[in-house]
Amino acid sequence: MVSPRDISRRRCVTYVIGPPCIDVKDASCVAECPVDCIYIGGRMLYINPEECIDCGACEPVCPVEAIYPAEYLPVAFKAFSGANAEFFERTGLGSPGGASGVEALEEDHPLIADWPRNNVGSGTNPYASSRNISED
Ligand code: SF4
Ligand code: SF4
Repeated sequence: MVSPRDISRRRCVTYVIGPPCIDVKDASCVAECPVDCIYIGGRMLYINPEECIDCGACEPVCPVEAIYPAEYLPVAFKAFSGANAEFFERTGLGSPGGASGVEALEEDHPLIADWPRNNVGSGTNPYASSRNISED
């Protein structure tokens, strides 16, 4: 029997990492995730939408506010929802059931690979105002 939650999960990804993480990658979120579903790519980290349980524990610890519930992603970041999910298909990782048993990858989703370089070490989030961007 398919539960309402299963149906919901098929319609959207869960929490999503957006562009403020690119070139920061401090991994504060990894230690908070109870199901170890945050994986390391070349320029940023990616949340596996099949493994994320929507607990929200990762969101407040991110120093650059890069983590969003999918439904609250700013319009300008919407493509990152698909990119987080597609990363696992493109790399062949699939859903391995935990990042700790997986080596950090050097590759990224093309959207992230081509993203302009972030100003690492500035201590500021160049996208901070994005929290005020209206959602669609
Ligand atoms: S805490 Fe934020 S910046 Fe650090 S790795 Fe996680 S998403 Fe990226
Ligand atoms: S919402 Fe919870 S389960 Fe999903 S990535 Fe964040 S800490 Fe992990």
